[in-house]
Amino acid sequence: MTRRHFLDGLAALSAIGMAGTWAQAANAHDIAAVTAALTQDGSIQRLKVGRDYWRQYLDDKAWNVLFREATEPAFTSPLNDEKRAGTFVCAACHLPLFSSETKYDSGTGWPSFYAAIDEHIGTKRDFRLIFPRTEYHCLRCGGHQGHVFNDGPPPTGKRWCNNGVALRFVPLDEPLPELRG
Ligand SMILES: [Zn+2]
Repeated sequence: MTRRHFLDGLAALSAIGMAGTWAQAANAHDIAAVTAALTQDGSIQRLKVGRDYWRQYLDDKAWNVLFREATEPAFTSPLNDEKRAGTFVCAACHLPLFSSETKYDSGTGWPSFYAAIDEHIGTKRDFRLIFPRTEYHCLRCGGHQGHVFNDGPPPTGKRWCNNGVALRFVPLDEPLPELRG
């Protein structure tokens, strides 16, 4: 066997290993394994596609929230009443963003969580209203999800107030969907 063939063989083995890891992680909703599979240089890499790329996957409502920072009307999301165990993934790229374990009823009319999957979330200051707010988004595709406030319940005191249309719920008995983009 030449060195070249040996290296090709190693690359193929490594690809199989990665696929196995991803499938196992997706089946088990093992978020730490998902993060590990996606992480390079200590953080998740931002996709290099423009916002128009996502129109093929999203209707206008979802696209306007995710890529133009629109806000869905309160009390309109079916996810307000979603109480099953599972994972909430980005509606655009499918990166897992919240576990059902941190979901609670805030009474605001938007799906709310007291914690996010931190490694998968980016934040920025937002001055769209008179007072500053902290906007947050999916770290992978940059899609806007909602705002985080300091009036949430224990143990964090945070309220991650999310547009339902920007999320997709995946129950525990279904594998996490393939990432897009
Ligand atoms: Zn995303």
